[in-house]
Amino acid sequence: MATVRLADYRPAPYLINRTDLTVRLFADHALVDARLAFSPNPGAADLPPQPLVLAGLNLQLEALAIDGIPHQPGAGELGDQGLCLNTPPQRPFELSNRVRIDPHSNTTLEGLYVSGGLFTTQCEAEGFRRITFHPDRPDLLSRFRVRIEADRDTAPVLLCNGNCIETGDLEDGRHYAIWDDPFPKPSYLFALVAGVLDEASDTFVTASGRTVKLRLHVEPGDLPYTAHAMASLQRAMRWDEQRYGLEYDLDEFNIVAVRHFNMGAMENKSLNIFNSKLVLADGETATDGELERIESVIAHEYYHNWTGNRITCRDWFQLSLKEGLTVFRDQSFSADRHGASLNRIDNVAMLRNTQFREDAGPTAHPVQPDAYQAIDNFYTTTIYEKGSEVIRMLHTLLGEETFMRAMALYVSRHDGSAATCDDFVQAMEDAAAEQPLGASFDFGQFRRWYHQAGTPVLEIQRHWDGERGELELHIRQHTPPTPGQPDKLPLVIPLVLGLVGQAGKALPLELATAEPATPATAPLPPAWGHHSRLVVIDRAETRLRCTGLPRQHHPPALSLLRQFSAPVKLTIGRPPAELVHLLAHDSDPVARWDAGQQLLRRALLARASGHVDGQLEDELVDALGRILADPSLSQASRATLLSLPGLAELEDAALEAGQAPDPPALFAAVMALQRHFGTALREPLLRLLDESRDQWPLAWPQGQGDRQLGGLVWRWGIAAGMESLMNEALQAVRGTSMTLARYGLAALQNHDRPQREAASAAFYERWQHKPVILDSWFALEASAPFGDGLARVSDLLEHPRYDPNAPNSVRAVLGGLASNAPMFHAADGSGYRFMALQIAALDQRNPITASRLAKVLSRWRSYGPERSAAMHDALVKLANATLSTNTREVVEQCLAD
Ligand SMILES: [Zn+2]
Repeated sequence: MATVRLADYRPAPYLINRTDLTVRLFADHALVDARLAFSPNPGAADLPPQPLVLAGLNLQLEALAIDGIPHQPGAGELGDQGLCLNTPPQRPFELSNRVRIDPHSNTTLEGLYVSGGLFTTQCEAEGFRRITFHPDRPDLLSRFRVRIEADRDTAPVLLCNGNCIETGDLEDGRHYAIWDDPFPKPSYLFALVAGVLDEASDTFVTASGRTVKLRLHVEPGDLPYTAHAMASLQRAMRWDEQRYGLEYDLDEFNIVAVRHFNMGAMENKSLNIFNSKLVLADGETATDGELERIESVIAHEYYHNWTGNRITCRDWFQLSLKEGLTVFRDQSFSADRHGASLNRIDNVAMLRNTQFREDAGPTAHPVQPDAYQAIDNFYTTTIYEKGSEVIRMLHTLLGEETFMRAMALYVSRHDGSAATCDDFVQAMEDAAAEQPLGASFDFGQFRRWYHQAGTPVLEIQRHWDGERGELELHIRQHTPPTPGQPDKLPLVIPLVLGLVGQAGKALPLELATAEPATPATAPLPPAWGHHSRLVVIDRAETRLRCTGLPRQHHPPALSLLRQFSAPVKLTIGRPPAELVHLLAHDSDPVARWDAGQQLLRRALLARASGHVDGQLEDELVDALGRILADPSLSQASRATLLSLPGLAELEDAALEAGQAPDPPALFAAVMALQRHFGTALREPLLRLLDESRDQWPLAWPQGQGDRQLGGLVWRWGIAAGMESLMNEALQAVRGTSMTLARYGLAALQNHDRPQREAASAAFYERWQHKPVILDSWFALEASAPFGDGLARVSDLLEHPRYDPNAPNSVRAVLGGLASNAPMFHAADGSGYRFMALQIAALDQRNPITASRLAKVLSRWRSYGPERSAAMHDALVKLANATLSTNTREVVEQCLAD
């Protein structure tokens, strides 16, 4: 397998000025005529002459010409990876070719393929080479004009990027459409869709008064489920104008919903293609969480029009340039819309349960990797979510005003071109330099966030001098080794902290000079919690001295990492009483939630290792009881403060405590703690359930917190054996709110009771003809933790409604199994073996989905000896199968020493 390295990047020898395509679609094949206008790249003039490489995969070349003169590929010029012209003309020239392709048998879902009779495309990252011969690299932007021809009956709708400039009839019942995209773009942003589609349309008037036509294209019958997506799009467009001053630039914007799709969605210029589960939704067919996710993904893809499309990536090592930044933008949009703190907590929980785990395993990589074999393997939470955290830190360090000036500078500098992560940071640095005081940190050092993998750890020790009222903090930072990176350098870490006094009030934080150098600090606005201070940690060791505090025996409670100001882990011995105090009084909602999470993690780890920490659990019951009774909290805040940490996070916590994680024991601990809380807090839980019911019928986003709290009470109450709640949950599954139905299913999920069986059957009966919804049923069935799990999963894979070519279905069943701790992690290794066989089979059809799934076997080293050996065996079996480049890269990373 060839390794691609950032260090090998060279500008392309030729630019492409135009890409003209004619795509003829037929019932069993497609013909693609391409004309590419090349000219020597002045930016590569200093380099020695290079051959012209046109990538091409599974293309049958039927004709090739240079400036209209037929060209017979010479010896070694045509291979399975494409076409390499050894002596291309050293002047502008036109290369034309015709290829035949087979979209109908393309199960990889890359390039041009057919999904449920619909022709569709996915070109990011390297799918365009499955459509025609092309350099197919992101730094080559060209203007596209595309003519599509197809049968009018089977493909009445013909869509492509840009503006439709001509349509007409052809012989034999065929027709055509010509699309012209005035904005030069890289080939990965090309998209084409043809088929039978219904259309929902609306308009959007931009800030400067232009009317944009918005169209949503869905499978026939799905029109009733498009209103939410359309409204989300309009809100997202308005927000980008208001916050970033960025307007849409074409006269039309199209979204197509496709059932068979490897990813969530794709930001192709003016023709976004979405996994249908991220478009089709209303209150009856989607949960509150799904509605919010759809809104954020629609915003995300739309925001790419500027951060991704107008300014694109120079090479795939810069993927986070567009993804990290666009995730940051969509998170800011969701925060503005639904409340910053709860949104932040959701994102932090997600980061801890996915990205931190990736950072600690064999596939750890930096936000800007420096080598890959299959770029598809790098669409990771590190590139997306950690990339967003890095941008958030810049925002925190620079402040809103400077950050926005830097964004404007970045856009004005790089619009219409391909840029690098460093170009982005440079714009930030230049904007900061214009401030009167300059930046409070070193940008060169900050850039290490892009190059060092692993989650940094802040180890904090404190010394309290109660007689003088002085608190000294000794902060050490280090980043653990990751594959290929044994040693790490100190990073710039914005640490936001505050102090909470004995009466629960925030204390002003006076920082005295420190040794060996005083770190930069700044007070922050109250949105960060009262009396918060930003401290820039940029050395391996930092000492801080806080003076003027109340003279008392106990130190004030230390609130750390407010708003989760940096993607790091903390090591600090804070006694339970201090965390309980923070859980009750911290004015920063994120740090407050986090204090509770730490207590809950401790209680769960104790249970998983066979000892119930009765004193801690009693304190937790009291603290949670106070939260349930606190009239100043919303139902959503209560539900969030009471939510239990995820299993992935618990596995990490076990490792940090020096124990081999035992996933079935952790799962059992969660069940047991739910049962305990459900019993001990029965009265206040039932009282709040009563209060929340009235709000359940309200339409999203109203009533969301009440439904969330209802779901939590069901889960805990049912775990505690409350029959009346089992019946209520079952009724909800039969009701009209998808949110309540799914909370009901989730609450019953782990209990082998007649109500669960009835709920599952009712849900299936009702939604069996709606694949988007039925996937959630597949996932629940595959993750049921009782009975013969593998037999049940085998049956699901043979189920008449299971679609092996739909990644959503595959992820539902196999992902459901992977999240089923007792089955997947069965001590005899049967779950691992089963999964390895399934991944090998899936890899034959769809390498992208298979290689992502293969990462569920990546943590074999972290389990106890028995599981570790069994997971390793499964990986070795997988390594011995015939695998795609994608899956092989992941498997070899997992097995590497
Ligand atoms: Zn994206």
